[in-house]
Amino acid sequence: MVKKSLNPVKIDYKKCIVENRLLQIRNDKIVDLADPLKVWTLEINAKDSKKVVDFIRRTMQPNDPVPLMHIKRIKKADIQKKTLRVVLCSVEMIREKQCVISLLKQLGPNFQYNNLNDTHFVPRQAAPTKELVLEWSDKYWPLSWYGNPNDQILNDYTFDMNAIKLLLEQIAIKATEELNSGNCYPIVSLFVDPKDIENPIIAVDRRTNTDFTILEHSIMSGIKAVAEKESKRREQVAKRVKKDTGSVYLCSDFDVYTTHEPCSMCSMALIHSRIKRCIFVQPMPKTGCLKTESGNNYCMHNNRNLNSKYEVFQWIGSEYPVPQIPEDTCC
Ligand SMILES: [Zn+2]
Repeated sequence: MVKKSLNPVKIDYKKCIVENRLLQIRNDKIVDLADPLKVWTLEINAKDSKKVVDFIRRTMQPNDPVPLMHIKRIKKADIQKKTLRVVLCSVEMIREKQCVISLLKQLGPNFQYNNLNDTHFVPRQAAPTKELVLEWSDKYWPLSWYGNPNDQILNDYTFDMNAIKLLLEQIAIKATEELNSGNCYPIVSLFVDPKDIENPIIAVDRRTNTDFTILEHSIMSGIKAVAEKESKRREQVAKRVKKDTGSVYLCSDFDVYTTHEPCSMCSMALIHSRIKRCIFVQPMPKTGCLKTESGNNYCMHNNRNLNSKYEVFQWIGSEYPVPQIPEDTCC
């Protein structure tokens, strides 16, 4: 992790643009939403606080599907009685009260409280501004402020701009070649495996080819090609060792470059295959599924109803023109 001021990559944190070319695509509609979340809380005597905090760090925090690093775990409850209220975990982690009570037994027979409840709410995500930290702390639960969490996310990404430019150039050229050779879906995607960056897989849209189905969008073709390559690799590994340590997901941490903003089928397939990042060139306002205002506003890579996410950037320079296609084309 490099300090923001020492990052050699030029990042406009306000506009979320890297090196004046890569625009971070986020779900704008949820950036400023607290999205309150129910949590299990307990009112305890101050003398028990260290014991409980240790218990939370050890047992609750590592297993909670909602990272609650942005909230203060403890707040004052009753000043006269010297009691504190502590957030144990999200209700999404443990739904049944009895299960929480069972876990609390780990704190020993002298740890006896009968006030476990799920009536408190905390913001699901860290606030993007100091003003919102104050507002949400007042409304829901005291929060910590470590700066805008998205600044940290942008600062922690790795951007090899030279490699990105070369790959975008490759897909733009290939898409033009497809157009010139009569493919009426000149859409191209490229898959980069972090474990084999020298050999990216390039995939074209094949839905007009009678040997393939109408579902063979370039991203689906790419995923299929990755699957075939992985299947061969596993066969080879199986000949040498009994147990393969490969990931259960097909495209773990892959970068995917694509000429046009993917449709809902393709952007969902990228969720299922667990890619890390998608960079596209041409937005598709009618059929795309990543930009906040595209398609049916699913913002698939950053959708709270899904258990996985990936990063998305749009190349906003004019260096890599891609073929124009009808606006109602799913890519
Ligand atoms: Zn598609």
